[in-house]
Amino acid sequence: MTTALFTHDDGLAHETPPGHPERIDRLHAVRQALGAERFAPLLRDEMPRATDADLLLCHPQAHLDTLAAAAPETGLVPLDPDTWMSPGTLHAARRAVGGACRAVDAVLAGTAANAFVAMRPPGHHAEPARAMGFCYFGTAAIAARHALDRHGLARVAVLDFDVHHGNGTQAILWDEPRSFYGSSHQMPLFPGTGAPDETGAHDTIVNAPLRAGAGTGAFRRAWDETILPRLDAFAPDLIIVSAGFDAHRADPLASLELGIDDFAWITSRICDLADAHAGGRVVSTLEGGYDLSALAASAAAHVDVLMERGE
Ligand SMILES: [Zn+2]
Repeated sequence: MTTALFTHDDGLAHETPPGHPERIDRLHAVRQALGAERFAPLLRDEMPRATDADLLLCHPQAHLDTLAAAAPETGLVPLDPDTWMSPGTLHAARRAVGGACRAVDAVLAGTAANAFVAMRPPGHHAEPARAMGFCYFGTAAIAARHALDRHGLARVAVLDFDVHHGNGTQAILWDEPRSFYGSSHQMPLFPGTGAPDETGAHDTIVNAPLRAGAGTGAFRRAWDETILPRLDAFAPDLIIVSAGFDAHRADPLASLELGIDDFAWITSRICDLADAHAGGRVVSTLEGGYDLSALAASAAAHVDVLMERGE
């Protein structure tokens, strides 16, 4: 068994205005890092663009219609001050969702032990009927529903260590008793959600906010004392990861003080829980991370651990 890598040039087709942090160079940086010799054993596979049926697992038709109507034929248009569309945006966003669903298929079929989806745009801020925060579709949440509804899994967890709270994932999975959503994030910070008392309709949401300036100790305590014990009790059949690397101390959009070792550590802890409950099955999807060298090195460290644990 091995680790699968899903990535596609469609992820380079989503353009944002000059100076926008969520830029094409992010994906170039991650792909360049994963091009190193030690990543040669990664299983690289095809990935389709998501179909309407895939997106409708978590979004109403009206959301698809709104985005299709807003997509420009040339140039860039803003949906809000952060979230822009270019002619390639929906191709990229659909390919990211398609990659996450295909990654779920691969780990459930046993062709890969675990998988990383290196795509953009990110997804965890996309609410059921609203694109926001650089996000258009709820990639991780759709992958979770795909596993529940189409593969018949009983319980799927989404774990999110991006520095921003995944308001979209939380909103989509709020009423879903078969899912668990656990997040550490800086608070206060965009998007403003993620307080500990936001626990979902079925008490399956666990938020562990961190103060600006928090580093290794607070981050690891949040996971070891608050999120992972609840995940252990939930006993997921599959773990989806919203892997954002913007809690790195070098990131320009936030003020946590994590380093590469912390991303390796959380990946390892997630794999421990996956080994205990889910046959080791982990599907990780790229979310944020806006300092290119920190992003590249952190994503590489994340995939290093997935490969070690997937052997
Ligand atoms: Zn983020």
